Amino acid sequence: MWLTSKIKQLLMVMKPGVVTLNYPAERPPVPKNLRGQPVWDHQKCIGCGGCSDHCPSRCILTRDVCQELRVMLYDGSRCTYCGRCADICPEGAITMSNSFEIACDDKDDITTRLELFMMTCQRCGRCYEMEKSNAIDRINLKGFRYDNLEQRALVRTTSETFSPELLKESDNYKRPSDKE
Ligand code: SF4
Ligand code: SF4
Repeated sequence: MWLTSKIKQLLMVMKPGVVTLNYPAERPPVPKNLRGQPVWDHQKCIGCGGCSDHCPSRCILTRDVCQELRVMLYDGSRCTYCGRCADICPEGAITMSNSFEIACDDKDDITTRLELFMMTCQRCGRCYEMEKSNAIDRINLKGFRYDNLEQRALVRTTSETFSPELLKESDNYKRPSDKE
């Protein structure tokens, strides 16, 4: 009785055949539109930092090593493949690849490092600085050379947010190279 029951079970199990995939020995084709690991195109990236700002996992770091060298680091171990960085990139420099097998024993294997040369402003010869103590930054007139008296006068007459206190503060502003 017991043996008959077991034979019946065996026959039931064998009837449908093999239903699982023989992975990883045989790799089935990757589904269309799979969102895998993001890949950066060094040639297209302008170093705006948009991907870094909008990554919900905070796995893209942006560091300015010096005035003209920006380093971007992508830490693949924290990435959730959400694709937001690719959506946000204004230059189309990020592509969501179909790569998803990222198991490794060295974190460097899933880390991407970009070293970007940042162009300097053609007016003043230095990178634009996002320092918020600068009165010109506060009134959102990006790109103006704050220590140009002519431009200051222009700002004074055209900006609604201008205040004499802000202009006074900009008198004390020092270029990075002038700071002690
Ligand atoms: S895919 Fe999502 S989690 Fe991964 S780097 Fe891009 S924004 Fe961040
Ligand atoms: S990858 Fe795109 S969003 Fe990120 S810094 Fe480069 S240009 Fe900006």
